[in-house]
Amino acid sequence: MGFVRRMLRPRVLRNSLIPVETWATLLSQHPILKGFSDDEARRLRELATLFLHEKTFSAAEGIDLTDHLRAVIAVQACLPILGLDIDWYGNWKTVVVVPDVFTEEYTEPDEAGVVHEWEEDKSGLSWDEGPVVLSWEDIEASGWGDGYNVVIHEAAHRLDQTDGAVNGCPALHQGMDPDEWRRVFSGSFEDLSRRKRSRKHRSKIDSYATESDSEFFAVASEYFFEKPRVLTSEYPDIYRLLAAFYRQDTAARLTAARGKRGGSAS
Ligand SMILES: [Zn+2]
Repeated sequence: MGFVRRMLRPRVLRNSLIPVETWATLLSQHPILKGFSDDEARRLRELATLFLHEKTFSAAEGIDLTDHLRAVIAVQACLPILGLDIDWYGNWKTVVVVPDVFTEEYTEPDEAGVVHEWEEDKSGLSWDEGPVVLSWEDIEASGWGDGYNVVIHEAAHRLDQTDGAVNGCPALHQGMDPDEWRRVFSGSFEDLSRRKRSRKHRSKIDSYATESDSEFFAVASEYFFEKPRVLTSEYPDIYRLLAAFYRQDTAARLTAARGKRGGSAS
């Protein structure tokens, strides 16, 4: 299946590439999609085209799953794999859009065998091999350069699985040191957990990152693509490792884009 899909890709790109006007509109709509070189923009357009072609989209009742909504999801989902390739999402087959925040029910036995039940509100969800569920309201709230991005968050969870475990560490490239990754990420996780309780040294990073190692990686990835300057100033080693993994320098790219626009950096 994977082999056939790969064989078909050149034809998909020849026949179904996202039209140039649609593409220009997509890039102009969200500030996190600025500053690409011609080559990066071309690759992102190809990745988003393949994503639209290879993934199944479905929607809950009440959602108008337009081509534009699919494309908005596809382009933001492909931003993290701009320096990688579409095969990194081999374990991601389906996208489901629901209207807004939904409630998940959990049950878990404790050590004494007592079963605890609780509910959590979710804006997105990603199961191992199952669909990625995204809330439409949160998709609308993503891409604006404020550090929040439900599409990138759930995409990061998918990438986290690529080494076989959901633990905040994806399959690292050759030359990257897994021990350094674990050391830097666990040290920053501890630091952010401490700062969550501090009034004076409170971080700009959403404290949801301190829920677990995998949430830390997903939230740090949101900041990496949305608001990288928060990472470069608060956790530069996290920025450096994410830049090595994603093979992108988002801080430089977005700063250059702001300069071109003549706006002030924030
Ligand atoms: Zn998460």
